[in-house]
Amino acid sequence: TNFQDYNFDEEILKALDKLGYQKPTSVQSELFPLLFSHQDAIVKSKTGSGKTAAFAIPIIQMLDWSVRTPQVLVLTPTRELALQVREEMFHIGRYKRLKVEPIYGQVSYKAQEKQLQQRTHIVVGTPGRVLDHIEQGTIDLSEIEYVVIDEADEMFAIGFEEQVNDILDSITTPYVMTLLSATLNQNIEQLCKRYMDNPTYIEV
Ligand code: AMP
Repeated sequence: TNFQDYNFDEEILKALDKLGYQKPTSVQSELFPLLFSHQDAIVKSKTGSGKTAAFAIPIIQMLDWSVRTPQVLVLTPTRELALQVREEMFHIGRYKRLKVEPIYGQVSYKAQEKQLQQRTHIVVGTPGRVLDHIEQGTIDLSEIEYVVIDEADEMFAIGFEEQVNDILDSITTPYVMTLLSATLNQNIEQLCKRYMDNPTYIEV
């Protein structure tokens, strides 16, 4: 398949062209249709497979540009990954004036709070700081439609299980969830059982 086979907006096709992406990788062609039909998915894949763009492209395509508060929450185990994901999403949405806010610890809480009061489409963050913002009431999750858990195995290895649960429990809107991991284990399966609705399993 080609990117032109999907109904992506011109701005997105132009951004993909600029990024030098010529056609979808296998994880991308498997995940795109699932996200477009609002299905939960568990994706077993490694870094380098194009997994970030696999969720980022369709989600950015489906955003409602009139909504001012976050519609997407991406949780990552580390600040480095949060920044990497943010960067890729920013580039995919560059001709759409996409606003992606990175939220992680050890930087000014106040500055983040201020940013979160501005128009924001996507929040990419680490669990601890995201939960801080939820508890302080400084993040509005009332319009969330997509939740992505990236590198779930790393997330659990670091010990973020409880925070991830608390974050997901605090989202009251129905959402589509995508979980990505290089390896799967019982803890991850339990999370999927608890928060996902009949997920499709993809392995690449
Ligand atoms: P990831 O697996 O998300 O870490 O992506 C690995 C690398 O592949 C990143 O540098 C992406 O920018 C790049 N990439 C993602 N999708 C494509 C594509 N369809 N064609 C070429 N490169 C891609």
